[in-house]
Amino acid sequence: MFTSCAQDTHNVEQRISNKINLRPVQTDIEYKKTLPEDVYYVAREEGTERPFTGQYVNFKEDGVYICRVCGNPLFDSKTKFKSGTGWPSFYDYYTNESLKEETDNKLGITRMEVECNRCNSHLGHVFNDGPNPTGLRYCINSVVLDFVPRKKVNETN
Ligand SMILES: [Zn+2]
Repeated sequence: MFTSCAQDTHNVEQRISNKINLRPVQTDIEYKKTLPEDVYYVAREEGTERPFTGQYVNFKEDGVYICRVCGNPLFDSKTKFKSGTGWPSFYDYYTNESLKEETDNKLGITRMEVECNRCNSHLGHVFNDGPNPTGLRYCINSVVLDFVPRKKVNETN
């Protein structure tokens, strides 16, 4: 498989960032031009990546997961747990600025959709069958996440 997308400098297999870097929020038209196709499909068209295909499913490094679209900090690796679903799963969000939740009735059932609170990108869904202490399971697509190692989280430049 070859890709002609010269804009995407991410290495898909090892996407680790050096810092939390908030980027300006853009329009869907701009994102269509700048985001890789698989990221756009999940983030802006509410798609879902195939289970067990994302790079963060079994990823166990210590740090913070950020929005791949805008850089907003979303989840702490300390709240990641093994759900067996094939998607990265967390039982809590990072801060009150991380997420927003919306009702999603698309599959004929009511689910709670999870979006980035900053750029409104679709991230996944939240369910009520998670572990203590919250009882929540945030089921998130790897492709819309980026990762910052713990020691880099508090660096400002
Ligand atoms: Zn975002």
